[in-house]
Amino acid sequence: MRDGAKTVNTTLNYSTEQLQRMDAAHHLHPFTHGSELGAKGVRIITEADGVFLRDSLGNEILDGMAGLWCVAIGYGRDELADVAAAQMKQLPYYNTFFQTSHVPAIRLATRLAELAPGDLNHVFFSTSGSEANDTNLRLVRHYWAAKGKPEKQTIIARWNGYHGSTVGAASFGGMKLMHEQGGLPIPGIVHINQPDWWSEGGEMSPEEFGLARARELEEKILELGEDKVAAFIAEPIQGAGGVIIPPDSYWPEMNRILKKYDILMIADEVICGFGRTGEWFGFQHYGIDPDIVTIAKALSSGYMPIGGSLVSDEVAAVINDSGEFNHGFTYSAHPVAAAVALENLRILSEEGIVDRVKETTGPYIKEKWEALAGHPLVGEAKIKGLIASIALTPDKESRAKFAAEEGTVGLLCRDMCMANQLVMRAVGDRMIIAPPLVISEDEIDLLMERVWKSLDQTYDRIQ
Ligand code: PLP
Repeated sequence: MRDGAKTVNTTLNYSTEQLQRMDAAHHLHPFTHGSELGAKGVRIITEADGVFLRDSLGNEILDGMAGLWCVAIGYGRDELADVAAAQMKQLPYYNTFFQTSHVPAIRLATRLAELAPGDLNHVFFSTSGSEANDTNLRLVRHYWAAKGKPEKQTIIARWNGYHGSTVGAASFGGMKLMHEQGGLPIPGIVHINQPDWWSEGGEMSPEEFGLARARELEEKILELGEDKVAAFIAEPIQGAGGVIIPPDSYWPEMNRILKKYDILMIADEVICGFGRTGEWFGFQHYGIDPDIVTIAKALSSGYMPIGGSLVSDEVAAVINDSGEFNHGFTYSAHPVAAAVALENLRILSEEGIVDRVKETTGPYIKEKWEALAGHPLVGEAKIKGLIASIALTPDKESRAKFAAEEGTVGLLCRDMCMANQLVMRAVGDRMIIAPPLVISEDEIDLLMERVWKSLDQTYDRIQ
C-alpha cells in the first residue's frame, strides 16, 4: 500500500476468529453459502488504498474486481471523504419529494445531463442499480399508459442478464437460480437468449450467431405483438453473467429492430457506465440509442450508495405531463451521496481517467489479456477497456465444458487467485476481471503475473 495508507484498527482488537464467529452467528450475507460461513470463516477486509485491499490477517490483495465493479477511482481518495464530511455538516439529509430539492441533487442532475450523450437530460435518483431498474419498470409502463397505450406493458430481457436483486430487477435478470427463490419473474417480463458465442454459438461464426440472436428479439416482438411490448432491457456487455462481449453484428441489428417496432430501450450501464469500457457509457461503443439508462456503482465509485435512471427528453416530458409519478425513495438523491458522486465525477473527468482507459491502460492490458488464450486451460479471452473474461475449457477446439459440475474448475481457479493475493471472480467456468480504472501499467503487470500463476496452478491441479 502507498505511504500514508490509513492504519486505523478497525477490528477494535477482536481477533479474526472472534469476528468470523460473530459474523457467522449474526450476519446473513448476500450471494454466500450460509452453511460455509461457520466452517470456512469470512475474509475480513479492514482497509484499502489504490487498487489494493488489506485483510485482517495482513494479506495485501490486488482487487481485480474494483469491489463489486464499482471502485473506479480506487480506494482511499480523501477528497470524497472530505466532501462527505462537509455535506453531512451542512445538510446531512433532506428529501426531494413534494416540490423540494437541494444543491447536491441539482448539481449532480445537471452534471449527468452534460455527460450523457444525446437527449438523456433527466435523472430519477435511487440508492442502487436494483432500485433504479425497479424504477425503470414503473417508468416505462407508466409512460405508455400516459401516451394512451396502456396495453404496451411487457418488457423483454435476456437470459443470463443481471439487473439486480429487488423483485422487478431480479425479474428483468435472467438468472434462473434467482427466479427459483421467490417466484420470479413477475408477470409481463419475458426473456430471450444471450449473445454468448463461446457457450451457445455451435457451428455458427460469431457474426452469424450475433445476427441470429438479435433476430430472436424480432421473433419475440412479433409473437407478443408490437403493441404489447413496452421496452427491452440489456447490459451493453453482460457483466455478472460472465463478461459476455457480444459479436460485432449483434447490437446494430438489435438497434434496428427496436427502432422499427417503437420499443423503448433501457441500457443497463450499472457496470459499463463511467469509463469501464473506455467510453463514459458502454452503449457508446455499440451505437445504441437508449431512452433510459440505469446507473449506479462507479457513479460514486462505491463510496456512497447511489443509483439512478437517466431519461430522455421525450420520456421525461410524457412523465412530467402525466401528473404525479407516484414513486420515490426516502434516499432518492441523498445529499451526501449526491455530493460524493459529484466529486467522483470531477475526479474521473479532471484526471482524465476515462481517456486513460481508452488510450493507455486499456490498450496496454488488451494485448496481455488476449495472450491468455495461449494458456492450455483458456478458450476465448475477451476484453473491452478494463472489463475482461476468459473461458476455461478442457478443449479449445470444440469449446468443450469440463466433465466436473459446471463451475468447479472456476471456483478452484478463483481460490488459487486468492491464494496468490488477487481477487478474480468466477462465473461458472469463466473468470472475470474489472479492476479499478486507476490501475497503473505496473499494477497491470502484477495482475497478469498473478493470473498466469493461478491458471498454471489450476491446470496442474486438474491434470
Ligand atoms: N445492473 C447491473 C448490470 C448490475 O451488474 C448490478 C449489480 O451488479 C445491478 C444492476 C444491481 O445494482 P445494485 O447491486 O446496486 O442494486
